[in-house]
Amino acid sequence: MKLDVEVLRYLSKEEFRVLTAVEMGMRNHEIVPTVLIDRIASLKNGGTYKVLKSLLKHKLLHHDSSKYDGFRLTYLGYDYLAIKTLLNRGVFRAVGRQIGVGKESDIFEVCTEDGTILAMKLHRLGRVSFRAVKSKRDYLRHRRNYNWLYLSRLAALKEFAFMKALEEHGFPVPQAVDCNRHCVVMSRVQGYPLVQVKQLQNPETVFETIIGVVIRLAEHGLIHCDFNEFNIMIDDDEKITVIDFPQMVSVSHRNAQMYFDRDVECIFKFFSKRFNLSFQEHTDEIDGSDVDSDETGRPTFSSISKTVGFLDKELAASGFTRKDQNDIEKFIEGGSEKDTSSDTEGTEDEEHASESNETTIKKLDSLQLADQEECTSNAYEDDKVDENQQSYE
Ligand code: ADP
Ligand code: MG
Repeated sequence: MKLDVEVLRYLSKEEFRVLTAVEMGMRNHEIVPTVLIDRIASLKNGGTYKVLKSLLKHKLLHHDSSKYDGFRLTYLGYDYLAIKTLLNRGVFRAVGRQIGVGKESDIFEVCTEDGTILAMKLHRLGRVSFRAVKSKRDYLRHRRNYNWLYLSRLAALKEFAFMKALEEHGFPVPQAVDCNRHCVVMSRVQGYPLVQVKQLQNPETVFETIIGVVIRLAEHGLIHCDFNEFNIMIDDDEKITVIDFPQMVSVSHRNAQMYFDRDVECIFKFFSKRFNLSFQEHTDEIDGSDVDSDETGRPTFSSISKTVGFLDKELAASGFTRKDQNDIEKFIEGGSEKDTSSDTEGTEDEEHASESNETTIKKLDSLQLADQEECTSNAYEDDKVDENQQSYE
């Protein structure tokens, strides 16, 4: 995915205004009718049409005339709105090279005013599949084409909130810097994903530290749900950093035990295969805790004393509530990065889900409005955007 930030530099005020108008229109339209865009943007002398052409040329919009003449945002268009907002806030001043491609994200370096390099993660929920979305397909049938925008935004907010709360509790995670739309800015982790590491000086110590993190997360009421060699970074001093949090669940989740066991299993398997570790002798030292292990040395979920809801306050402080967590769990089942066939069919929960999906969408709509207010406070400086906004709700 090419993110040509040069384009951003040359986009005019009018172009951002029209781009924002399309984003607004997408609250209620999969494809936003061109006439509606024109009315929301209300540029003089049919200016909107010319601007639409240029946005299309830069691939910030997609044109669709199958049912009526209209446009929708592309990922790139959404990226630019988020980046523009973060630039305006002074979070960073330039976007650099791409440093990671996840299953559902693109990661770039960004540079702050004082030259610090940070990492910017752009969420792309729905790129491969919804991560084992317990298929809201019926529900999303009409909305799925633009639902990625809302879901990616909620995933980013969740990631930001968890990263911040975990950092405050001393977990080895990147430092959360800021978040807008589907974009999270965090400290750049030195080192490599563990999957790329062929040799370690002290595999036993690294293994014990990592299993210790899984246990300590559970003690704090949380399960990572995608805890594996792709989401653990390690530096030259063999210090680890855990990344990638949108699928985390509470230990009170009905499948908590399964997720916990799976996270543990991923680590045991990897260390056994890659570093030939055998385990019985290590688990005593794990976390210095009194957690029991089974006959294979794996810690048992039931023996961990867990504090449910421990982080709720911190999460809510970042704007991510327990309700958001419940909502996003309906969309994202803690699928594993390694498991590409995780796009499962519907379950018995589907019926219950649709009502609260409606609520989710409403909530996300209001979040999006807040974004727009910030972005448009620049693009629309001298204008009566409120009036327009209201008339198209
Ligand atoms: P996904 O959710 O799509 O799997 P991740 O958060 O796991 O995305 O990131 C994908 C890749 O990007 C990682 O494997 C890593 O190589 C890189 N990456 C992510 N976050 C950072 C960071 N803060 N610093 C450096 N590299 C990162
Ligand atoms: Mg990942």
